Amino acid sequence: MLEELYQKVVEKDPAQPEFHQAVKEVLDSLESVLEKHPEYRKVKIPERIVEPERVILFRVPWLDDDGNVQVNRGFRIEMNSAIGPYKGGLRFHPSVNLGILKFLAFEQVFKNALTTIPMGGGKGGSDFDPKGKSDNEVMKFCQSFMSELFRHIGPSTDVPAGDIGVGGREIGFLFGQYKKLRNEWSGVLTGKGLQYGGSLIRPEATGYGAVYFGEEMLKTRGKSYNGLTCLVSGSGNVAQYATEKLNQLGAKVVTLSDSSGCIYDEEGINAEKLAFIMDLKNNRRGRIKEYAEKYKNVEYKPVDPEMDHNPLWAYPADCAFPSATQNEISAKDAQNLINNGVFLVSEGANMPTVPGGVDIFLQHKILYGPGKAANAGGVATSGLEMAQNATFSSWTRQEVDQKLHNIMISIHAQAKAAAEMYGDPTNYVLGANAAGFCKVADAMMAQGVV
Ligand code: NDP
Repeated sequence: MLEELYQKVVEKDPAQPEFHQAVKEVLDSLESVLEKHPEYRKVKIPERIVEPERVILFRVPWLDDDGNVQVNRGFRIEMNSAIGPYKGGLRFHPSVNLGILKFLAFEQVFKNALTTIPMGGGKGGSDFDPKGKSDNEVMKFCQSFMSELFRHIGPSTDVPAGDIGVGGREIGFLFGQYKKLRNEWSGVLTGKGLQYGGSLIRPEATGYGAVYFGEEMLKTRGKSYNGLTCLVSGSGNVAQYATEKLNQLGAKVVTLSDSSGCIYDEEGINAEKLAFIMDLKNNRRGRIKEYAEKYKNVEYKPVDPEMDHNPLWAYPADCAFPSATQNEISAKDAQNLINNGVFLVSEGANMPTVPGGVDIFLQHKILYGPGKAANAGGVATSGLEMAQNATFSSWTRQEVDQKLHNIMISIHAQAKAAAEMYGDPTNYVLGANAAGFCKVADAMMAQGVV
């Protein structure tokens, strides 16, 4: 029956491969869950959960610095609001399309359910590319984007945040336009600046959270990060703070990347070098290659489309934190990781490993934390930002970090317990999908056919 449902999803929207991939992974985990819970089948929870509650698609016209009219496409997928207001980031990247955002919104539903905070799932964005644009152009684009989006969102309806290409700068411009149009200050976006309602630790949360999740997995084998060598991909928000936390916990990070190439620094990317990366990426908006020009004994490998694997995943290490984008670890990369000694993968990015790669991790029984569990710290801390906004309060750095840490411990415990309950104790993919699904399914059951 689940195979039949999957085929229907593919037939209905044949041009959405990433969405099919995300749906298949969850449906594959549900066989044993539905055996225990036939009531979910009866009211067609699986059929309803793969269908977005609402999809908004709109034109985003704006004027560039030369006075030319530019046109992009804007999206918001309101996937599921059974357990709380829609919540999920906005992605600005040329690769954005309906299928990519549906996959991200679908993942978000289960991820948010695991956080223990009442948040539904959503995702949005645009095919706009902030790279190479002036601050003025980014502002004009954000204002036009929000001029349509504002009528669909609200602090109790739908609360967007950042994702690839949407950081503090973009959230500021989006928030300013929302406030102007509504004549209202509210916590309608998260990832805001500290001066206007943002939460301490929100920028750090996804990267820190992925490292905390990995720490819980390590504890199951009586290990810690001390002295371990780690591969991190990407060099944006998630990668930067995963690196920071790994350094703090005594590990050594030897790689980072961007869409042009990767660097390998055998000595380790210490705090001083990480500060260089943060300035390079967050202020100067430069390329990772500059790291290899600045520091000695660093290898830089440009992306080679002819290559059948990503060299970043072929360096010897103990742990890997994919933190760039979807499907960045192929089956060959997964095998390279195993061959080179990696025994822990904690996914900062969403769905960074192709299904064949996931199979390899599961077969080898390494500690594998899928994105929807391992990177949930970002949205969880967005939930904490919403709570602070709703009560006009602000918590200290230590308070938020402690809450984030406790949430990651809880997510790990839920995924582990569900994996055990459904018969495959070391399989966090099964555990995260089953635990997240049951929470949303129970809420949907309670609310009737809506
Ligand atoms: P950023 O835009 O800050 O950084 C993204 C990084 O990944 C950049 O280094 C970018 O390089 C690289 N990258 C993006 N697309 C590609 C690509 N197609 N090929 C190679 N490299 C690429 O985004 P985030 O750090 O916020 O997001 C990274 C991942 O983490 C995404 O999968 C996102 O969905 C996920 N995530 C983020 C959360 C958050 O709180 N920010 C929460 C949960 C998940 P370049 O600059 O060259 O494009």
